[in-house]
Amino acid sequence: MKEQESFLKEKIDFKSPNRNIVPITTSIGRDGKLFVGGCSIEELVKKYDSPLYILDEKTLRSSCRAYKLALEKYYPGKSLPIYASKANSSIFMSNLVSSEGLGLDAVSEGELLTALKGGVQNEKIVFHGNNKSDKEIEFAVRNNINVIVDNDYDLERLDELSNRFSRDLEIMIRFTPGIECHTHEYIRTGSFDSKFGFGIEYLNTLFAKISNTKHLKLKGIHAHIGSQIFELEPHKDLGEIMANVILEAKKFGHEIKKLNVGGGLGIKYTENDDPPSIDEWVKTIATSVVKACRKHNLDLPKLMCEPGRSIVSTAGITIYKIGAFKEIPGIRTYLSVDGGMSDNPRPITYQSNYSACLVSNPFNTNSKNKYTIAGKHCESGDVLFKEIELADCKTGDLICVFGTGAYNYSMSSNYNRIPRPAALLVSDGEAEIIQKRESPLDLLKYDVLPDRFIKQN
Ligand SMILES: *Cc1c(COP(=O)(O)O)cnc(C)c1O
Repeated sequence: MKEQESFLKEKIDFKSPNRNIVPITTSIGRDGKLFVGGCSIEELVKKYDSPLYILDEKTLRSSCRAYKLALEKYYPGKSLPIYASKANSSIFMSNLVSSEGLGLDAVSEGELLTALKGGVQNEKIVFHGNNKSDKEIEFAVRNNINVIVDNDYDLERLDELSNRFSRDLEIMIRFTPGIECHTHEYIRTGSFDSKFGFGIEYLNTLFAKISNTKHLKLKGIHAHIGSQIFELEPHKDLGEIMANVILEAKKFGHEIKKLNVGGGLGIKYTENDDPPSIDEWVKTIATSVVKACRKHNLDLPKLMCEPGRSIVSTAGITIYKIGAFKEIPGIRTYLSVDGGMSDNPRPITYQSNYSACLVSNPFNTNSKNKYTIAGKHCESGDVLFKEIELADCKTGDLICVFGTGAYNYSMSSNYNRIPRPAALLVSDGEAEIIQKRESPLDLLKYDVLPDRFIKQN
């Protein structure tokens, strides 16, 4: 069976959306066209124009609940899943994950503000980053947000702030566990050669430094291995490594009560991807931590994990309208769409693959055409699909790209001064705007022409 023919017929895993290519509410209308969240995609584009980001509420909630449930099952009473908001940061997303009982991780003042505006409780927010600004770090401390210490520079400033406010500060530290995993090198973070976190060989020096501060209380450790990971093996080793760090910290008088294992579970972008389920991933980690703690006679710490992609990616789709065709005889046919690298920079950054279909012919019946789908930006590399089999299509037809909920909007740009698409939330046949479409005029808002130039003209 042809790949593009099969994927809409796949058996949907409702419990672990990261194992599907399409949102769990995807259906085909009586007109034979694509529906998501009970909404006709064609009707949504008529009303809201294209390109269009769409998030499916049921898929989002199902992903959040899968993490909550699995943690309760394998690590009862002592866990907190934390949404890594860099995957898709908005007031809506902050509100949704918080309504499902998740915490949120942020890496900038912008993401912190978005989380607070979205109603995430301060004590459920963790603040990461390998180069936090003074302003950001003070903002986090003043707002009682948990800071994850990434380097000595963070430590010095937290020491200074806690002394200035004469207040004890609970901190967590991030370290690189030296675990290799098979993913793109740009998103691999757990190996020794990484810009993030403390090297494991430096931890004893660090523990001594923290002991010498007046107000810093080391309460937790954090490690994040990488992203879009399909293997369970790396996480099996994490429990033992973390237990050893807890034991070392003990020697310096630090009681580690929180253990944060980061995120990284992969999702199914194409037929070739076969990620573990959320349940399997959590089970692997929880079992590994429980086993290591028993072995070393340690109390079970609170277990935190930080999924980003596997919460939001499968819930998201992007709709484009087809414009120009260019056939290069004997080589390829380019089909250009009304968006591209500004709304989805992943293909040009990571050579990442997606699945797509025509909104009017989702099963891609009679597909015999191979197309290269190009974006509209002035880069030859602005190509969303190098080669994709699609049914006959023409200018004006709509293309749906699946799995675009994570690291698309959040990494988007205004390259070529192209405004960002609107984002909709769909649920039970209703669509609501969660992000307004930018206009070209919005993009001029921060431009300034110095007075003397105005006089000259
Ligand atoms: C990126 C990141 C995550 C989330 O990774 P996903 O692969 O999206 O689950 C979690 N924690 C940290 C520290 C990160 O940098």
